Amino acid sequence: MDASNRPFWERKSLEEMSEREWESLCDGCGRCCLHKFEDDTSGDIYFTDVACQYLDEETCSCPHYDDRQKYVPDCLSITPNWEEKFNWLPSTCAYRLLYEGKSLYDWHPLISGNKQSVHLAGISVRGRTYRDNEIKEDQLFEHIIHWVE
Ligand code: SF4
Ligand code: SF4
Repeated sequence: MDASNRPFWERKSLEEMSEREWESLCDGCGRCCLHKFEDDTSGDIYFTDVACQYLDEETCSCPHYDDRQKYVPDCLSITPNWEEKFNWLPSTCAYRLLYEGKSLYDWHPLISGNKQSVHLAGISVRGRTYRDNEIKEDQLFEHIIHWVE
């Protein structure tokens, strides 16, 4: 394929993408809205099945996306120059995959052309989470999962 015919995520760096292209990279999995632990020594990240209380459990999207830090002050804002923090994102996340020089998966909506494919492939958190306002902080550790890495 002629290089200029390749899709934008294959021919542009993260920094070169327009805002619309950048936003379209999000597959809508909701995984980044899960609480997680970071091992201080190794830097390893452990995800839990406890999601932010604001996450829409059906669509796995944020109803307050544009002003989300008003609701959750430490909610992530992913930027192209995020560097080492990309490992806070799940290994399936498009931003992390591209940052690491990897390809998007076939189930990514940009490839499948279907926003539901992230759910159909079992990648999204739909139907698999607890809300953080229902879980006591000292119980979080018991909610570590292995289906998100
Ligand atoms: S993990 Fe990545 S792809 Fe999934 S919802 Fe979060 S930002 Fe989007
Ligand atoms: S505020 Fe929205 S984007 Fe941030 S963690 Fe909660 S649901 Fe996710």
